[in-house]
Amino acid sequence: YTAKARRTGYTIFDHSQDSTDPRRLTLAGDLRRGIDQGQLLLYYQPKVDARTGAVLGAEALVRWRHPEYGLIPPDDFIPLAEHTGLIGPLTRFVLAEALRQARAWRDAGHELGVAVNVSAHGLLDLALPVEIAALLEHCGVPARLLTVEITETAIMTDPERALRVVRELHTLGVRLSIDDFGTGYSSLAYLKNLPVQELKIDRSFVSGMTTSDRDAVIVRSTVDLGHNLGLRVVAEGVEDDATWRQLDAAGCDALQGYHISRPVAADEFGTWLAGWDRTAAAGPVTAA
Ligand code: C2E
Ligand code: MG
Ligand code: MG
Ligand code: MG
Repeated sequence: YTAKARRTGYTIFDHSQDSTDPRRLTLAGDLRRGIDQGQLLLYYQPKVDARTGAVLGAEALVRWRHPEYGLIPPDDFIPLAEHTGLIGPLTRFVLAEALRQARAWRDAGHELGVAVNVSAHGLLDLALPVEIAALLEHCGVPARLLTVEITETAIMTDPERALRVVRELHTLGVRLSIDDFGTGYSSLAYLKNLPVQELKIDRSFVSGMTTSDRDAVIVRSTVDLGHNLGLRVVAEGVEDDATWRQLDAAGCDALQGYHISRPVAADEFGTWLAGWDRTAAAGPVTAA
């Protein structure tokens, strides 16, 4: 299990790492069927411009509507998918669905980017760039509207191979973002060679920045580091207006967080977007 899954503590899928554990086998079977039977769905969380509040795009976050357990968050089944070879089909579903949605937004007059999380397995999959190219073509979405979010930990699993995949994605014109920045064990020596365009500061630093000077220093330094490397800097986990203001003052480019919107289903996202645009059009944006 990943450090991230461990941090979330007890989950219903956290029984065992033993691949022969019958409960785990049942759940892996459930997930395999779930993927085939369309039980996975995407929620979307907006990314907005820190200065103007303009909506830049949305991050796609997968959920599993389990027939018995209800809506299951990704931290509870991504590790299972990683350990059972189901992450490949899962990633393909997420990419296809997110790009279909980006196309639908575009057709509705919203030129919004969409970001997809790709875990270590995907990043080491040399077939991924070709598949993404085919999906972009199929959906008629320009590559620049797709951002692939990767983590430092995934990169460090096999830096040489990750670099190959990342370079090919970059050649396609796909944007790359380093997610949860500051929590992994990456080396700046690797990062400086990666053709990424965005750093996302982990919410563990963002959520503490209005009360902890140390967190505030880390956030400001990360914004400067990112800018000095020519990257856009996004803050995740913005939960109140004070944090928004402080991030804007620090020069952070874009924001995500519950204060702007929780991740919501696609149809709710449309409703949110209409409301947010009206607010923005009415005058200076203060957070909803
Ligand atoms: P992440 O990519 O870092 O996504 C951010 C997580 O923080 C999301 O949790 C989001 O709901 C949550 N979040 C956003 N704003 C706030 C806030 O203001 N406060 C708090 N407390 N939380 C906030 P979620 O949707 O449960 O996803 C968790 C993780 O699961 C993601 O972290 C990502 O690593 C992974 N994940 C999600 N979807 C996928 C996917 O399609 N594929 C893969 N491989 N991983 C995914
Ligand atoms: Mg992410
Ligand atoms: Mg993140
Ligand atoms: Mg995070």
